Amino acid sequence: MKFSNPDIAVHKPIPAPLDTEYPVTAWGVDQCGESFKQLTIYRPQVGLHDVKFELKFCGICHSDVHNVLNEMSEKWGSTYPIVPGHELVGTVVEVGEKVSRVKVGDNVGVGCIRDSCLICEVCHRGEECYCVNGFTHTYNTPKKKENCHIGGNPEVQNWGGYSEFDVVHEHFIIKIPEGMPLEKAGPILCAGITMWSPLNHWGATNTEKKLNIGIVGIGGLGTMGIKLAAALGHRVVAISSSDKKIDVAKSKGAEDYVVSKDADSVRKERGKLDLIINTVSAPHDIAPYISMLKTDGTLVQLGCIAAPMQYNQFMLILKRISIAGSLIGGIPATQEVVDFCFKNEIYPDIELVEAGQLNKIYTELQDNNSAAVRYVLDIKKSLETTK
Ligand code: NAP
Ligand code: ZN
Repeated sequence: MKFSNPDIAVHKPIPAPLDTEYPVTAWGVDQCGESFKQLTIYRPQVGLHDVKFELKFCGICHSDVHNVLNEMSEKWGSTYPIVPGHELVGTVVEVGEKVSRVKVGDNVGVGCIRDSCLICEVCHRGEECYCVNGFTHTYNTPKKKENCHIGGNPEVQNWGGYSEFDVVHEHFIIKIPEGMPLEKAGPILCAGITMWSPLNHWGATNTEKKLNIGIVGIGGLGTMGIKLAAALGHRVVAISSSDKKIDVAKSKGAEDYVVSKDADSVRKERGKLDLIINTVSAPHDIAPYISMLKTDGTLVQLGCIAAPMQYNQFMLILKRISIAGSLIGGIPATQEVVDFCFKNEIYPDIELVEAGQLNKIYTELQDNNSAAVRYVLDIKKSLETTK
């Protein structure tokens, strides 16, 4: 695994547990530059509004890679130890007295949002990820001083889903429909909603009109984007940095395929696309994508890339092109995409892995995710092999 910016990494060792906390097995990276290992973290007891669940699976997102390898920002570093994972799925084992949305035995999930203020206008309209007071990401974040719905030691950073149990306020729980394959549910909670949100915002979920939609980067997010956009009835053009993923992209529903580094290939789609959703995870040139947009087209940037990008403004001016960003999605929309995927049997293509393989998988994701799958950590198997 190749780490970045070791000089700005923050080290905050795990303190002794409070009386109200209990130990939980987790997998993470103890110090910037080290390999994954088993750690003991402490989770809070269940509060009035909390749901405790036993994790079965947790998807491995490229954002986990950025966070663990300290790539998220050039200004402030990740906090170590770090336990990543924001595609959590498991079964409820305990609920607080005031919990009404789920009960013991239900299958549930948690995506990228562990907390938000729940009182601002944006939270009220169900877009918690854009909370005006700042949402709390599932891991690698401090607990807020105000409007916090997270128990445990307020001084300790949040831990993600590569772990045995978690406890979350019921507002942030996603219900997994009975019958949905649990191992495939997790990636819908990040990869699925992150693709669904721009499709929804830019008019692709509620139209009779067949749009031309480009999906850039055939990895965990991109493959979900192809499946969702195709299921919504649009022409999907997969856009990749090489010709190696043609078969895989077409098998997921792409009608056409562009190699972004091949000018002739790009030219075939020049001026033809209404919307392009870009999931590329490393610095790259966006000019080829802009050239493929129609007048009034939009390029939506999703990749968590800290380095600034450059483009020629004439490319925007001459066709009234917009460049936008989009962040995951709120809790109601996450439930909506889970239910849509269940109804239409749209699932990510996954490969189950165990904790001992994490270092190798992170290297594979840094190297372009050549298998174009979502790796999913099998928590139960990992516990069996490490205990
Ligand atoms: P992934 O599975 O690793 O896929 C990323 C894809 O990007 C690769 O499969 C590859 O596709 C392409 N790529 C990688 N390096 C490239 C390069 N140097 N030049 C051109 N293309 C390159 O990652 P993921 O889990 O889908 O996540 C993708 C990005 O979205 C990450 O940056 C992640 O942090 C971010 N993300 C953002 C949000 C949000 O809310 N905005 C949510 C989740 C994730 P090809 O081989 O097809 O080129
Ligand atoms: Zn993610």
